[in-house]
Amino acid sequence: MSTETPLDLKKTVNLPKTAFSQKANLAQSEPARLEKWAKLDLYRLMRQASEGREKFILHDGPPYANADIHLGTATNKILKDFIVKSRGMMGYDAPYVPGYDCHGLPIEIHVERGLEKKGKKRGDLSRESFRRACREHAENALKSQTRDFKRLGILGEWDNPYLTMSNHYEAETARMFARFVERGWVYKGARPVYWCIKDQTALAEAEVEYHQHTSPSVYVKFPLESDPAEIDPALAGRKVFVLIWTTTPWTLPANLGIAVHPDFEYSAFEQGDEVYIVASDLVEAVAAKCELGQPKVLARFQGAKLDRLKARHAWLDRPSLLMVGEHVTLGGEADAETELDVKDAEKKADSKAGTGAVHTAPGHGHDDFVIGKRYGLEIYCPVDNAGRFTSEVEHFAGQRVFDANDAIVEFMRDKGVLLFSEKYEHRYPHCWRCKNPVIFRATPQWFIAMDQAHRDLVEKDEDGRDRTNLTDNLPENGSASLRGAALDEIERVKWIPGWGVDRMRNMLKGRPDWCVSRQRVWGVSIPVFYCAKCTEAVADPAVINYVADVFEKESGDAWWTHDAKDLMPPGYTCKGCGAQEWIKETDILDVWFDSGTSSIAVLENREELRWPADVYIEGGDQFRGWFNSSLMVGVAAHDRAPYKTVITHGWTLDAQGRAMHKSAGNAIEPEKVIKQSGAETIRLWCASSNYFDDMRGSDEILQRVTDGYRKLRNTARFALGNLYGFEPDRDSVPDAEMEEIDRWPLAELDRVTRRVLAAYEAYEFHNVYQALFNFATVTLSARYFDIIKDRLYTFAPRNKARRSAQTVLLRIGDSLARMVAPILVFTADEIWENLPNRIEASIHLAQFPTASGDAQEALLSEWEHLFAVRDDVLRALEEARVAKLIGSSLEAKVTLEATGSTLELLQRHQNDLRYLFIVSQVELREATSEGVSIKVSVADGEKCERCWNYSTHVGESEAYPTVCERCIAALTEIGQA
Ligand SMILES: [Zn+2]
Ligand SMILES: [Zn+2]
Ligand SMILES: [Zn+2]
Repeated sequence: MSTETPLDLKKTVNLPKTAFSQKANLAQSEPARLEKWAKLDLYRLMRQASEGREKFILHDGPPYANADIHLGTATNKILKDFIVKSRGMMGYDAPYVPGYDCHGLPIEIHVERGLEKKGKKRGDLSRESFRRACREHAENALKSQTRDFKRLGILGEWDNPYLTMSNHYEAETARMFARFVERGWVYKGARPVYWCIKDQTALAEAEVEYHQHTSPSVYVKFPLESDPAEIDPALAGRKVFVLIWTTTPWTLPANLGIAVHPDFEYSAFEQGDEVYIVASDLVEAVAAKCELGQPKVLARFQGAKLDRLKARHAWLDRPSLLMVGEHVTLGGEADAETELDVKDAEKKADSKAGTGAVHTAPGHGHDDFVIGKRYGLEIYCPVDNAGRFTSEVEHFAGQRVFDANDAIVEFMRDKGVLLFSEKYEHRYPHCWRCKNPVIFRATPQWFIAMDQAHRDLVEKDEDGRDRTNLTDNLPENGSASLRGAALDEIERVKWIPGWGVDRMRNMLKGRPDWCVSRQRVWGVSIPVFYCAKCTEAVADPAVINYVADVFEKESGDAWWTHDAKDLMPPGYTCKGCGAQEWIKETDILDVWFDSGTSSIAVLENREELRWPADVYIEGGDQFRGWFNSSLMVGVAAHDRAPYKTVITHGWTLDAQGRAMHKSAGNAIEPEKVIKQSGAETIRLWCASSNYFDDMRGSDEILQRVTDGYRKLRNTARFALGNLYGFEPDRDSVPDAEMEEIDRWPLAELDRVTRRVLAAYEAYEFHNVYQALFNFATVTLSARYFDIIKDRLYTFAPRNKARRSAQTVLLRIGDSLARMVAPILVFTADEIWENLPNRIEASIHLAQFPTASGDAQEALLSEWEHLFAVRDDVLRALEEARVAKLIGSSLEAKVTLEATGSTLELLQRHQNDLRYLFIVSQVELREATSEGVSIKVSVADGEKCERCWNYSTHVGESEAYPTVCERCIAALTEIGQA
């Protein structure tokens, strides 16, 4: 053979090698991975792999198929993905069927605007064409949302989502309505509902939002008609007035009564030749506000004394009945969740503004309606669909109510019935679509009764005819209360965070009957008929189910494309008059009824799902929305809540806690972030935020998330790089034969695994992130990896001590990838690809690692002790470096003096200490006093060219004159291999 060539020492060092790049390039690599998953048909493989396992069902609250996704919608879907993926990796069969809410006013408005741009009006289109345009719009919107959700790495049945506008779903919605009818909970009646005068439709609770609004605040006097001596002899013969306060002067023409609290004390005080009645606690405030001077009180009495006395309307020739009600308050801050109507908010708005005598217009307020019913008042509402006074309103007929406010104030001033008026700022309900202030207005609507079967709630129509008499359809047991059953059910549900149950309870206790009819077009028609002859309403479950079967075949459009007689079961006759001619109801169902039906339409109808769901997770607005409507439907269908657990997530806000708006320039747009740094950034941001609170996002916060990502990635890369050439079957070292220093990170891994699994179990993803991040940056990067670098790089590749470290790295890499997989869906899969032991084609087919039963506390605390010594040593080394005694730490020799158990501990680990401190030599001595003393000196011997450690043995080998004894051993081992 030829002469020996000098050995290239560098080539004998095991440098890390991996295809897992340092730079993530997520913006490019994520789409490629999505394509790979699509080719694999990964979601289907996941379903197959989990077949037969216990099911875990997260039921998707359907986003509205209108606009593009924003950070809030992205966050909602990502949190759901965390849950579904983590439960799947825990060993459940956790399918994910996404849904879309497709009907409703926002889409109608969008289509109308599109028509306007083309110079057309809605009236130019037939109802069918208009509905077709709405359907097309929803289809396009949900297609683009699907594309965006998929891009976020969310896996699910995207090819077959549930749509509230599908034939089957529309049929199920109609059938659910039949179910409510069957239970006796549906009635038609005049009830005050939120009404948008711009959109000319009723609005649901969830469709109003509260904003600041300026209203006229007025104090008005209503003359007492009854003999004041009945209240107190001191008032005999006096001109007595009851003072009311309101911020909606336009409701005064509809005033039919005044409510006082039966248990409050009221006072009658003198003002010139007149006497005014207000709550005693408010006398001073009212007198001051209305500039009445020092009030002279003539009499004090309980509110109950006023019950059923008569006042006159302030200016109209009719009575205003005095009533007592517990709903009357003396003030207190209004709570948005319990603001049931304008007038309720007003009663609670400001203790200084009220009088304790509440102007009552049963057609314009919920409490007013309730008390009005109790006292037999008419549900009087002289305001039309467009918010104009009807002709019966003297002086103001034809005026729009908000415009009439000022005119009414002036009118009252002229009449001398107004004591005081001013501008008043308060929170007032607005339409969520058009942002205009809404009114409360009684109209004939379909309701779902919260408290009793409609047997007691049969209502007459405007002409006094009983067109809503549905008693024939009432089952014998149809009288259970929906509210009562719902209140019982929520106590069985687990609410996360725990305050959810209180919020739901308050919401349920306060909510009025559910108005489910809308005077719109794009939705599921209320499948009710009216007799063409006698107007009797037919809301018969058998008829509705017959119609539903038609919807199933032809979609809800059938309601409009068929004549009434074709939708009725053949031969059906009017129970009232025997006629067979019918008129169709033109109202559609509230979209919240649609989405509320989802648990039945989806969970019960898809083989892979089941009812009830394990978990619902949505934002806090859904207490009034989907959590609520789903509960109503669940109770109607099965007397059960449709969910076992309800999780509420916070809002996405900017760093200062303000709402994000494109126009304000503080919005984080998912699309932009994805282009810059990948969907993983958004996902990791979601995991790093505590979503039980509001989630803060800004460029700076996202930058911190990106930095965190880089650290996690580098940790994984170190493990992967040093697994080059490691074949698990061949090279793994059994635990018992491992270096002791390698057993410590495994104990740490065990501990972090336990923490992470518990956090996933509790849906606390921020704790998952914290645990994994600390493990990666502290335990691994700052400690373990530093310690094993020398062994990994300089020992012979197949040296057992090196294989021991690699065995640990494999286990860490594997476990980290699995534990982070629900969050970093792309990166975890990339790590997985580069691990030597993978069996499954994707990490998303794998399971979480298991934690061992026994926490190795003794081992962990021993190492904590060693790391405490290490911290002191590193500090001493840093000082030596600053003093220019040494350059790198390998140039140092450390002399430790210790006593007792510390000395014993250090002695036991004597051979590990130089690696632990990353120095060339460590000398251990028994100290003469307590504590550990550390001395740093220059290492003995010379620097080894290969491993850079110092040794007195460098130069002892003729073959390798520049290397140390450890390297000679390594080189010999390599040569023999
Ligand atoms: Zn509106
Ligand atoms: Zn009839
Ligand atoms: Zn060496």
